[in-house]
Order: sequence, then C-alpha cells, then structure tokens
Amino acid sequence: QALLARIDRLDGDLNSFISVTAEQALAAADRADAARAAGDAGPLTGVPLALKDIFCTEGVKTSAGSRMLDNFIAPYDATVVEKLRAAGTVSLGKTNMDEFAMGSSNENSFFGPVKNPWDRDAVPGGSSGGSAAAVAAGLVPAAMGTDTGGSIRQPAAFCGITGLKPTYGRVSRYGIIAYASSLDQAGPMARTAEDCARLLGAIAGHDLRDSTSVARGVPDYTEELDAPLAGLKIGLPREYFGEGLDPAVESAVREAIRVYESLGATVREVSLPHTHYAIPAYYVIAPAEASSNLSRYDGVRFGHRCDAPADLTDLYKRSRAEGFGEEVKRRILMGTHTLSEGFFDAYYKKAQQVRRLIRQDFLDAFDEVDVLMGPASPTPAFDLGARKDPVSMYLQDIYTIAINLAGIPGISVPAGFVGHRPVGLQILGTHFAEARLLNVAHQFQ
Ligand code: GLN
Repeated sequence: QALLARIDRLDGDLNSFISVTAEQALAAADRADAARAAGDAGPLTGVPLALKDIFCTEGVKTSAGSRMLDNFIAPYDATVVEKLRAAGTVSLGKTNMDEFAMGSSNENSFFGPVKNPWDRDAVPGGSSGGSAAAVAAGLVPAAMGTDTGGSIRQPAAFCGITGLKPTYGRVSRYGIIAYASSLDQAGPMARTAEDCARLLGAIAGHDLRDSTSVARGVPDYTEELDAPLAGLKIGLPREYFGEGLDPAVESAVREAIRVYESLGATVREVSLPHTHYAIPAYYVIAPAEASSNLSRYDGVRFGHRCDAPADLTDLYKRSRAEGFGEEVKRRILMGTHTLSEGFFDAYYKKAQQVRRLIRQDFLDAFDEVDVLMGPASPTPAFDLGARKDPVSMYLQDIYTIAINLAGIPGISVPAGFVGHRPVGLQILGTHFAEARLLNVAHQFQ
C-alpha cells in the first residue's frame, strides 16, 4: 500500500508505469501474508516488484509499449511471471518501454517518454526505461526487464541501479513478446547484485515451452556473493576505451576498476578485434528477426484493427500503419529488405558470419581473463529529445549489443556520477558465469 501510494504521488510525472494493477497486488500481498503465517515463506515472499510491459500477464494489458497491443489482455502468464508468482512476489504493475523494445531512450513508447528520476531533463535509457526508473525512484525494489541489445544494462546504467542480462537460454522466453528471438533474454533490475541474485534464481531454468532454454541446473546465486576476489583476472577490452567514450565516464569506470585492484584483482588489456562490426551486424539481424516476428500483427487475430476496412489488403495496411510507430516501421522495412531475395546473402547471411567472429573474440578473451570490464554506455543519460537521428541512437549501443550477439551474460553496476547523471560499470563473463558476475558486482557494492 505504501508503494502504491508512492506510485500515485510520483509517477504522474515520471511515467514509468503503463498499468498499475493495485487490486491484484493487494490480493497477492494477502496471499503472501497467509504464506508467512503458515510458515511457508521463501526469501521473495511478499516482495513487491514490477514487470516490463513485454511479459504476458494473465488478465492484464500487455502492450509492449505499442498502440498495436493497447487493447491486448494477455490470456496467460509468461514463464517468468509464473515463476515470480510462485516465489510469492507481488507485482504492482507493468512498466513503460520503447515500442516492441526497439530503442535506447524510452522515447519510442506509444505511452510517452519516461523521465530519469535523477535528472528529469534526461532520458532513463531504454528499452526497459520504465523498469529502471521505477526502481531508481523507489517505486519498487526490483523490476523485470528484457535485453536484446542492452535494454537491461543501459537503462540500469542511466538510472544508477544494477541490471543483469543472463546468458542466452538461461531464462525462458515463453510469453515474452518477441523482438529478435535469437537475442532476447529476460533479467532482473534492482538496487544491488544481491537482489539480482535472488531474482535470477527464481526466474532461471529450463522450460519445455521454450526450446532455446537450456537444460542446466540453477545454482543458488547468493552462495558465492562473498567469495574473495584476490587473484581475479580482469580484462579491459581496448576497443571499449576508444574514440567516442566520454572522458568523464571513462574516469568513473577506471576509478571503479582501481577498487578491484585494491581487492586483489589483476588488470590487463585485451582485444575484441571485431567490435567495430557489432552495430552493423546487430542492426541487420535484429530488424530481420523483428520483421518476421511482427508479421503476426495483421489486424485479424489480435491487436489493433482499423475501422471499416474496404477489403483484406486495406485491413492489413491500415491496421499496421495505424498500430505501429515510426521506429518499428523503420525496422520492419530494414528487416524485410535484408531478408529479401538477392539481399539475403549480402546482408543477413554475412551478419550471421560476423556474429560468429564476435562470439569467438569473447571466447578467446575468456581464455586469458575471468571477466571483462568497461563502460555500459559511452555517455551518461542524454537529454530528452536530444537524439532525433536514428543512427546516433543506434551508436549508443556500442558497448552492449556485441554481448547479445555472443550470447554471454553481462551486468551493469552503479559506478558514480557525471554531474547528477549516473554511470554504469559493465562486467562481462563467459556463458553461464552469472554467479561469478554477481560475486564480482557484489564485492564492489
Ligand atoms: N537499443 C537496441 C535496439 O533498439 C536494444 C534494444 C533492446 O535491447 N531491446 O534494438
């Protein structure tokens, strides 16, 4: 009730929620109380949180930030939602996001931009901007996000919280509205690595309803949080400290790395030579998969339907023209183009080959070091409305998207400020190294 009142008081201005589900929340809180009274409580029983509006939630509007799904009440729960409910958490509602998770500033939402709680002239990052802002503003202690190319880590960095993108396949994608299926992954956003560890333990695991989820045991991610870091080998990718990096962000990140040295870690430079190709490869692969995934929104089965269509073609055309925003249309066009006959080999196939090289860069680096560290984003949060050109927005993703192409896990932890705007330190590990990343992040906090 206290948090619902706080949301009521502050979120008119921040706009971090699309839907607040007060009634369901209070009922879930009653169930948590009853579980506690029966001696049946786990570590997450009664913990309030929020869900990015991309997780299907039974009986609740699930819009993906789009006009297309403004009328969509999900008939079932995503696996992540089901697991969080089973763990006794209390969802207070659905958070704002860039439309279909396409964006780095939350300005592509049909429901309007979100303000950064640290500085209301700044964006909160995206696409999980609502989740990051809600946690940073103390509206909820934790929220769920998804990360296809940085959408958990970059908003976590911009809002001064901790956000973890797990290994591809660690968390089921069932019931998460698809953007780019070979890259999408859900993960926790919270104040601390410790909170993220508890939440990851609750949502991870194999799911028969997602064939890309991995059949591998889920460790207790809290167990190794306190392991000492003496002897930890940290690699600094040369390409993550080059041109385009704001010097103030660089000095905050280097200062954080000095803290690790004082904890007994050793630091050396490494190279990820194909970094330069990550943005072009991603912005071929992600729109291609998106154009395919978004073909289902045709005005027939669900979602927005135009008024009085003249015939079937008119129904498709106007429903899609009205339902999708500008950036989503741009991606559908790019993706359809790169998948079309005559272009497929030159773009999509080539991008997949480059993706393999990018993945190999990381595997080679992890032969030499335990973790990689660098900035989560080249700049702190920028001003609302400052990046009108889509390419300048895409360039924002330089330090985050290669991680999704490689399928490895990454975490962003708060590492100081530039003025009033937070800076995130990004820590990367090899596939399924989440426990290690959480341990390394926790030791800093
Ligand atoms: N900014 C990237 C994009 O627009 C990443 C988004 C994401 O991770 N969902 O595609």
